Amino acid sequence: MRARLVAGNWKMHGSLAANRALLDAIVAGVHGVECAVCVPYPYLAQGQERLRGTQIALAAQNVSEHAAGAHTGEVSGAMLAEFGCRYVLVGHSERRQNYGETDAQVAAKFAAARAAGITPILCVGETLAEREAGRTEEVVLRQVDAVLGRSDFGDAVLAYEPVWAIGTGRTATPEQAQEVHATLQKRLSAATRILYGGSVKPDNAAAIFAMPDVDGGLIGGASLVAGDFIAICEAAQRKG
Ligand code: PEP
Repeated sequence: MRARLVAGNWKMHGSLAANRALLDAIVAGVHGVECAVCVPYPYLAQGQERLRGTQIALAAQNVSEHAAGAHTGEVSGAMLAEFGCRYVLVGHSERRQNYGETDAQVAAKFAAARAAGITPILCVGETLAEREAGRTEEVVLRQVDAVLGRSDFGDAVLAYEPVWAIGTGRTATPEQAQEVHATLQKRLSAATRILYGGSVKPDNAAAIFAMPDVDGGLIGGASLVAGDFIAICEAAQRKG
């Protein structure tokens, strides 16, 4: 059985003081399920220090496709590894949509993370227009295949995040999530974990996590509220 994982994506939120309180609460409150927090780059050192020796994994939100060199503003996989990152998000829809990341670039970032010994969490998902045009399966498989064309998936994690559900308060129904997860699971090894992301909250988490091919969640807004994030982790723990 696949171990469940709940990852919090803090996006561009936080401060030293706010992070301290949030990390303290998560360390104290999350038990019995694998959990990671994806913090902004400047707070990696704070995360590394606070999470050392705890059950919570540190993660980053992005990684350069390059190993080193003249790439102003970029951060390499080796740098993330030095700060103790176990995971890194790759291909989040905000990166694809707002910063023009292509499938090829996402595949290169995935490879760079693996080369640095960091487990990528590859994000895929369709827009509302793509779903309404009946293209969901085609889009998510294209995004996965771009990575598989370049790398072994290994022990990487996949996150299905319908773009129309991210930060909108509009969640895929458990059945909609399960349908896409089942399609994706067939493309990957049976051991690959597939997280669902898109407006997961304490009141809908249990129903989503109850789906057979949903192995946890990637949580945005609710990961900034300690009580909500802990409740979502508890819902993941109860599954199975
Ligand atoms: C995300 O950013 O990956 C996400 C799922 O955000 P939210 O939970 O706020 O929809």
